[in-house]
Amino acid sequence: MDRTRNGAKAERVDAVIVGAGVAGLLAAYTLLRRRLGTRVTLIEAGAPLYARLRAATPTSEGYGGAGLYLGGSLYFGTTTLPVMPPVSAPAAMRPVVAGAAFVQRAREVDALFTELGAKAPWQPAPAEPLAQAIAQAQSVGLDYVTNYPARRLPPAERQAALGRLRATLEDLGARFHFGARVTTVSRSHDGEYLLTLTPTSPTITAAPDAPVGPTAPAPAKSLRTRALLLAPGRYGAEWLTQVVGALDAQIIPLPTTFGVRLELPAATYDPLTDVNPDPRLQMTLPGDALIKTYATCPGGVVTAIRRYGALVASGQPALKREQRGPRTTLALLVQPGATGALGAWAGGEASARLLNDRAPGSLLVQRLADVRRRVATTAEAMAGATVQPSCAEATPGALYDAYPDAYWQAVETFLGRIAQLAPGAQDGDALVYGPAEERFWYFPTDDQMQTTTPGLFVAGDGPGQSQGIIQASIAGLLAGEGLAAYLGA
Ligand SMILES: Cc1cc2nc3c(=O)[nH]c(=O)nc-3n(C[C@H](O)[C@H](O)[C@H](O)COP(=O)(O)OP(=O)(O)OC[C@H]3O[C@@H](n4cnc5c(N)ncnc54)[C@H](O)[C@@H]3O)c2cc1C
Repeated sequence: MDRTRNGAKAERVDAVIVGAGVAGLLAAYTLLRRRLGTRVTLIEAGAPLYARLRAATPTSEGYGGAGLYLGGSLYFGTTTLPVMPPVSAPAAMRPVVAGAAFVQRAREVDALFTELGAKAPWQPAPAEPLAQAIAQAQSVGLDYVTNYPARRLPPAERQAALGRLRATLEDLGARFHFGARVTTVSRSHDGEYLLTLTPTSPTITAAPDAPVGPTAPAPAKSLRTRALLLAPGRYGAEWLTQVVGALDAQIIPLPTTFGVRLELPAATYDPLTDVNPDPRLQMTLPGDALIKTYATCPGGVVTAIRRYGALVASGQPALKREQRGPRTTLALLVQPGATGALGAWAGGEASARLLNDRAPGSLLVQRLADVRRRVATTAEAMAGATVQPSCAEATPGALYDAYPDAYWQAVETFLGRIAQLAPGAQDGDALVYGPAEERFWYFPTDDQMQTTTPGLFVAGDGPGQSQGIIQASIAGLLAGEGLAAYLGA
């Protein structure tokens, strides 16, 4: 035990892994298999498995992270890591693993899940009616994004696999701190990392996460380590950019994906969401960009969340089908490529600032018919509208002039095609909320996920390497190998 500058106790370990999602867990597994006896501590802001299983509301935080705990479908679709954008990538961006090497790694991950008890078979292609929905989308000029082959682990199977993985990790000597969020990370002159931890919930304890070994102690206030892996998942991406940036590692922002969030009667969009609750449709645009639907919430509501220093529109899904409300919401986002963002699609990221300045502290909402007429929607007009906003805090006003004309033209063409699958989707009574945006970054790493700062590794969805369990697992596996090599395997 060492003391930090302010006198607090700092526990010293060989390696710290932040985030017990699939990337962090597989990194710990690989590191300990390669280097038995390494003192590895995993820090997780959320709860251990037993507490997640008892919770009334599912969350994306906790042992197993987002996708492995909540979704559990293994997709074999993509074959690069990091995910390369479907539009032009920055010149410096390169896959760390691709093609046959990726497939080989994916097989390793798949074999591990099988060893942990997964039995579900691989489905080579989508079954009806999804196959039919994909064909229909193609016939109207839309790409329907799906990922096959797929292996869908039912809840009991993935929970059992997660339990076995934790038991294995603890047998190998890993220690877990749950209910503790790493808030700051600094690097001393001798290259050690100092992490400060803030408890997220006083009620979270590591036990009884059966059937496992020793109980982890209460979270320490700070930790020191030579090797650090940050694997905080997609929702930790913003924090990750701040921490990694402050540690002088290189980060390259990808062009901002920008647009609005649409709200329309649920019945209108049912033909699509009855087949798949989050149908991902997209269409290529001239000038190096594409337009896509994102985060569809059937029967959900629009909420305002603070992200990337702005207030942005997000969707909150209904947890169960019987809880669905009368409206469906989805984002309509333009994703420019690196070239497009400098040319035809320049300036999209300015929309969020402009709209936030126009309506401080609230989202703006406008009827689609008024966007077309290029007039603001007044409070009176909104009060008489057929579709009423689900987000009570949104201010009726103007969005039409906050986005480039090319954006609205793309929306019209896109919605026109979607309306051939879901008649009425183009109706002027629909509402658009703004701003909506998504940001991604590219973290240059070596082939084992080490950033340009020695001893600092990143893995998973947080640094934009993955968008699914298999990819995040491979990232974890590589990072585990990198940590072992760094510590001297
Ligand atoms: C609802 C949902 C369902 C999904 N379903 C699937 C699916 O079926 N198949 C699929 O392939 N993909 C699915 N995904 C995507 C999948 O979640 C991710 O690709 C995968 O989980 C990424 O793993 P990760 O380890 O990078 O991050 P995560 O799984 O998100 O884990 C990150 C963990 O880090 C913790 N953390 C973050 N910041 C800190 C901090 N500062 N201190 C301490 N802990 C921290 C979080 O609490 C979290 O538990 C789904 C995603 C969601 C949101």
